[in-house]
Amino acid sequence: MNRQISATWFPPLNRSAGYAERMTGYRLVRLLPLLSSLAVSSFAQQHVTAKTVISFTPPVVVVGSPELIVISSSGINKVEGEWLGQKLEFFQRGGNWIALAGADVEAEPGTSTAHITAHTDQGSLDLSQTVEIHPAHYRTGKLAVQPKFVEPGPEEQKEIAADAKLKAKVFAESAPEPLWHGSFQAPVRSPPTDSFGTRRMFNGKLASIHKGMDFRAPRGTVVRASNSGVVVLARPLYFEGNCVIIDHGLGLYTLSMHFSRIDVREGQRVVAGDKLGLSGATGRVTGPHLHWAVRWEGAYLDPAKLLRINLNAIR
Ligand SMILES: [Zn+2]
Repeated sequence: MNRQISATWFPPLNRSAGYAERMTGYRLVRLLPLLSSLAVSSFAQQHVTAKTVISFTPPVVVVGSPELIVISSSGINKVEGEWLGQKLEFFQRGGNWIALAGADVEAEPGTSTAHITAHTDQGSLDLSQTVEIHPAHYRTGKLAVQPKFVEPGPEEQKEIAADAKLKAKVFAESAPEPLWHGSFQAPVRSPPTDSFGTRRMFNGKLASIHKGMDFRAPRGTVVRASNSGVVVLARPLYFEGNCVIIDHGLGLYTLSMHFSRIDVREGQRVVAGDKLGLSGATGRVTGPHLHWAVRWEGAYLDPAKLLRINLNAIR
């Protein structure tokens, strides 16, 4: 048997209360002794006595899902991983090794493997998991914007290229440790829309995928930091308008766009709830709103799902 560890899938422990959660707790209590006994027997030959449990939250992965991966075990010195071509950066909190990752909004549905290796004093353990990525049923929409945003002229194309270069630099330099503390909070109190992942036609021509979530925020609505981090970009861009990007560490960023006013500066440290600026209608928009996006290692993830993951035990 080359499966060295009794790693398994666990339902999340932190979803809304109800019958399902009580069942989850019940199953967990029943499974743990079973897992420990399996672990002890299979580890006896390897002189490792740790019991190891891996959980993915949310447990059903769809295209665009953020995923909280938690490995609970003792005796692990380091964890390395790779999923969907991206490096999984694990950090330690208490007895757990944690990574926040996700499947891009344009990921192909199907079977994937999260390659995970844990290093112990006795050697390495293969904790790799098969992860089924289910299709998401995103809508198709049509929008009318100013023609310059669909067919930009030569000057505008220069500006767009300069923006792309700047963003690539920003996204290449994430902090080497998690800067976030606890759960992410909505950036405005305004109602969100289910616009993430929408396939869109601008002026009947350009097709693109909406990689963020729009909030119905009237001009001048206060926009706040959703979690702690460092402001790595705070300036006007062509499509994004007045844009604020926060680095939350280990490749995770939140992006807020179309501000009428920016109230933070690049390099500034922020905590959840800090005022970033006021919403507006700058850049490629049809009207005032807040576009809020979550990016991990180049993948754009569903912000609504990130807001639902309970991270309050991770501080
Ligand atoms: Zn948007």
